[in-house]
Amino acid sequence: MRQLVWLRNDLRTIDNSALHHAMQQGPTLALYILSPVQWQLHDEAAIKLDFRLRNLQQLAERLQLLNVPLIVTQCDLWQELPQRLPEFCRTWQVSSLHFNAEYGVNEQQRDRQCAEQLEAAGIRVYRHGDSCLFPPGSLRTQQGQMFQVFTAFKKACWQRLHAAPLRSLPPPVAQAPTGIASQLDAIQPYLAHNPDRERLWPAGEDAAWQQLERFCRQDIHNYQQERNFPALDNTSRLSPALACGVLSVRSCWQRALLANQGEFDSGSEGVVTWLTELLWREFYQHLLALNPRLSKGEPFLESGKRIPWRNDPGQLHAWQQGRTGFPLIDAAMRQLAATGWMHNRLRMVVAMFFCKNLLLDWRLGERWFMQQLIDGDLAANNGGWQWCASTGTDAAPYFRVFNPVTQSQRFDPKGEFIRRWLPELAHLDDKQIHLPQHGHDLFSGSYPAPIVDLKSSRARAIEAFSRANGSL
Ligand code: FAD
Repeated sequence: MRQLVWLRNDLRTIDNSALHHAMQQGPTLALYILSPVQWQLHDEAAIKLDFRLRNLQQLAERLQLLNVPLIVTQCDLWQELPQRLPEFCRTWQVSSLHFNAEYGVNEQQRDRQCAEQLEAAGIRVYRHGDSCLFPPGSLRTQQGQMFQVFTAFKKACWQRLHAAPLRSLPPPVAQAPTGIASQLDAIQPYLAHNPDRERLWPAGEDAAWQQLERFCRQDIHNYQQERNFPALDNTSRLSPALACGVLSVRSCWQRALLANQGEFDSGSEGVVTWLTELLWREFYQHLLALNPRLSKGEPFLESGKRIPWRNDPGQLHAWQQGRTGFPLIDAAMRQLAATGWMHNRLRMVVAMFFCKNLLLDWRLGERWFMQQLIDGDLAANNGGWQWCASTGTDAAPYFRVFNPVTQSQRFDPKGEFIRRWLPELAHLDDKQIHLPQHGHDLFSGSYPAPIVDLKSSRARAIEAFSRANGSL
């Protein structure tokens, strides 16, 4: 009888708990299930789907070296899986199934229902913790509560890491050939075959490891000073690989530690700051796992339900298309549309503008991001949006409203990033570029006038939020 590893957002051979444990127990097959309809219901971006499947192709080659055949099949909706999986296991003579836990509500329900049916059919099911550094729920305050403040959560992580350093799994060793050939045909109809995209976002574990290696040799040491400047583009850009699980977070953590003589709370400021970003990822994953309502579009704070979001399809469209009349915002939205990725500082600026100056419901922005991002991740996206909307745990205080022009002057002082994405403004000088003056001699062309007045929209937002918070 065989072991089956059911791969999802863990498309790697290195440091993959489910794969490791399956292979320890006996001859192993790997399964990947395409669920295009379900993915659409979850607003997954086409670029993310393509990236995932290109990674799957590369993974099949790596698995081949381990003599683990990969079977790719399709099941449009997850609700069909509790019936389909036991059948699959019978056909392939599988006695145990291994998977790595996922923390969205639908994912948890899918896994629970599948496990029930499989166990009823006599198949053992092993659920492994893998996508986080620590199992969600294992870090609690002294009162036994989930942390609601990031700094306290980070401190608890540090204490744990001092007490017991993280361990990655040993590299996998090839098993004896199974005589079964991989089956990948089901992927073909979904591949985009877009060479530009493939160059921009190369797939596979080798590419991801090279990127991690390059970052940890160079840019990580300047990360603290430079990470907020989108034109410098020196963040790791590992988020797509982390979102699809091409790299484990433990591998990232350990490689960064190597660049800092094993220290995570002193030494290279760049390394310490980057590791802290990995802990933000961890924080949001734990929040998602422990608060099912976050998967259902509910705000973390009760007061978030009382904010009178506006309905303004015209402004929503202008924001989505990068035509708000605020160059930094528009450049960022065009970067997103063209590459499927946006720099973190800009994600904060465009989301804050959306929720505060436009007073539009953060869920619409969250959804649009999910539909565009190559690194779309429910936990991080929801956490980021609720932070900007001041509806989340440890979120920006509601009276904090980034001014997109000041942010532009501060983080893109020479307008390099703006010029890269808005060539129609390239001729403006370093002062004008942050907010072109209509009617000014220097300005001509089709660039729109600002869709909102910053001062009055800020006041409107603060008043709406104050009322929702009961402070007016
Ligand atoms: P680096 O700066 O190199 O950071 C390394 C890794 O740490 C990232 O790859 C990511 O996994 C993690 N990380 C960094 N910052 C954060 C953060 N604030 N929250 C959670 N994890 C973080 N990140 C996603 O991976 N997917 C999303 O869908 C997503 N949506 C976001 C939406 C909004 C409104 C905001 C404000 C942030 C969002 N982020 C999201 C977080 C962050 O913007 C990206 O992780 C980061 O820009 C990715 O670039 P990088 O890999 O170069 O990051």
